[in-house]
Amino acid sequence: CDEVVLVGRSNVGKSTLMRELTGHSVSTGRKPGVTRQPNHFDWTSESFMFTDLPGFGFMSGVSEEQREQIKTDVVRYVEDNADDILVGVLVVDGKSVVDIIDRHSGDDEIPHDVELFHFLRDLEIPTVVAVNKMDKVDDRDDRLDDLCDRLGLYPPWKQWQDTIAPISAKRGNISALTDTLGDHFHDQKRDDL
Ligand code: GDP
Repeated sequence: CDEVVLVGRSNVGKSTLMRELTGHSVSTGRKPGVTRQPNHFDWTSESFMFTDLPGFGFMSGVSEEQREQIKTDVVRYVEDNADDILVGVLVVDGKSVVDIIDRHSGDDEIPHDVELFHFLRDLEIPTVVAVNKMDKVDDRDDRLDDLCDRLGLYPPWKQWQDTIAPISAKRGNISALTDTLGDHFHDQKRDDL
């Protein structure tokens, strides 16, 4: 069955989003980094499956070595399953993502989020960036334009509404993402005909 994978740093709201998308309660009390296995969920109205991959990046109480291992596992999972993956959803925290990217941009460093985005696209997996926690963002258009710029997408962000989906999972406001996913699903069905 076709698969939609969710990737992202820890604490960006991946579990909250998964709960909104699937109606399932996910990983309550789960310690970051402890559950390394992908979680699979059916999206009842369609024959698609959501896969929540472990979060990566900084997590308190998790060693550098474990963090690298988690990222390696995520990358391997996506590579091994690329043929079945219909859409990759990179979940980011809209409030902090641009600052985190800028802090980690250097000569010998590629920020996780930027790396993941290009990794998915290089595997030719259609990729949607779910920009979460938009309820905390005041300068919405500027922030989203900056994010596009950092991802190598020419601003303004409104040109990229099939790629950039501003949401607030906690408030249940995820229509920008579900609309985009719906478009991808239908494109796929058309291709299959
Ligand atoms: P995960 O580690 O990526 O699975 O993140 P969680 O789903 O556990 O969420 C991390 C924190 O962000 C929790 O305190 C959530 O309540 C909060 N959170 C998730 N989504 C949103 C959102 O849309 N807006 C705000 N303000 N907080 C959110």
